[in-house]
Amino acid sequence: MGLLIKNATILTMDSDKPEFLEANLGVKGNRIVFIGDIPDTFKAVTEIDGTGKVILPGLINSHSHIAMSLMRHYADDLPFWTWLNDRIMPLEHKLTGPDIYAGSMLSIAEMIRSGITTFADMYFFVDEIAQAVSQTGMRANLSRGLVFNSPEDISKIDEAMELYHKWNNSDNGRIKIDLGPHAPYTCGPEYLKKISKIAGNLDIGIHIHISESRREVEEIYSLYKKSPVEYVRDCGIFEQRTYAAHCVKVSDDDIAILANNKVSVINNPGSNLKFGNGFAPVSKMLDAGINVSLGTDGPASNNNLNMFEEMNLTALVNKAADHSPTSVPAYTALQMATINGAKALGIDNEVGTVTVGKKADLILVDMEKPHFYPKLDIVSSLIYSAQASDVCTVICDGRLLMRDRELLTLDEMKVCTEADDAARKLINSA
Ligand SMILES: [Zn+2]
Repeated sequence: MGLLIKNATILTMDSDKPEFLEANLGVKGNRIVFIGDIPDTFKAVTEIDGTGKVILPGLINSHSHIAMSLMRHYADDLPFWTWLNDRIMPLEHKLTGPDIYAGSMLSIAEMIRSGITTFADMYFFVDEIAQAVSQTGMRANLSRGLVFNSPEDISKIDEAMELYHKWNNSDNGRIKIDLGPHAPYTCGPEYLKKISKIAGNLDIGIHIHISESRREVEEIYSLYKKSPVEYVRDCGIFEQRTYAAHCVKVSDDDIAILANNKVSVINNPGSNLKFGNGFAPVSKMLDAGINVSLGTDGPASNNNLNMFEEMNLTALVNKAADHSPTSVPAYTALQMATINGAKALGIDNEVGTVTVGKKADLILVDMEKPHFYPKLDIVSSLIYSAQASDVCTVICDGRLLMRDRELLTLDEMKVCTEADDAARKLINSA
């Protein structure tokens, strides 16, 4: 059973500089089996004409809370703490498993349409999120968000363990379970130490928010006389593979700690801009050797799941923040959204580049549009001109999820209607 893409331009993302191949690409099962001449033994069941298209690795959204799509456009243009405490959290307390499933399906439809094949998520009712991933054929690292407000919250760790035993490496390895301590300001030291120990025992990653806002830095300093980065390090979290969202308010000392501990940082430029939290020092972190990837954050704080927009933002915003037009060049932005995301999630041996032997997570971008002409520099055009809607075909784990803009693993109108109904019921009950 083979899938053949003929005559495409392939941007491999497999080296430090852009590498293009004009070739055929073959997929057998869930892996890329050749790039180049079609072997005599290869039998294609499905053939795709790649003429005028660019093949890229599927994009990786390394930080989100996808079910928050139900709260999209519900609370905008508000201060972060008003948004969170007065508007979002009262709704979150009312969310049910079926709500989370409906919101997840809506977000997955949006993500496939924009060329995302893998996402990392931190939320609750993770069982329902995993069901949506399983059903739609995407790839995901899922974490149960862990906060510690009362002694009963210790049971959330038990829930995370159950999720691990039920879902980790399921669906042909597409679903991974990591641990998701929410943030320094919602997790005390003993709770974080316990989480670090469990992650070590299970050999899984840790997904956390760190230093998102000035207020967080001030609060943690007043409690522990440390920066959030120092506090999290001292609780042992960095002894495991950690990917930390935001890292906006980090000092030079914090950057050295993140680099020395091989912590991956997830840049979320859209969310940081929307909440007025400022600009993460992405160039400094990259220069320090930190693996920086890219995420949308939740769709209630963005308000979309569009990695082409995040790539564009990270390339533009960091130039403005650094007063330097050479900051975060186009190819770096593309690395952040592909191979760097795979490294953050611990799956770079399987996805993140277009390489023979790796899993076939691939997207085709239709370059036959006016905004791509003249075709002088494909990498530049993908970052500075491309739209998410230019993605025409999406393959994850060797399976077509979208072909010629048609979603193949979900009923799009049904998904939109069910999410709309769930959102209206939720908001009316508030
Ligand atoms: Zn977040």
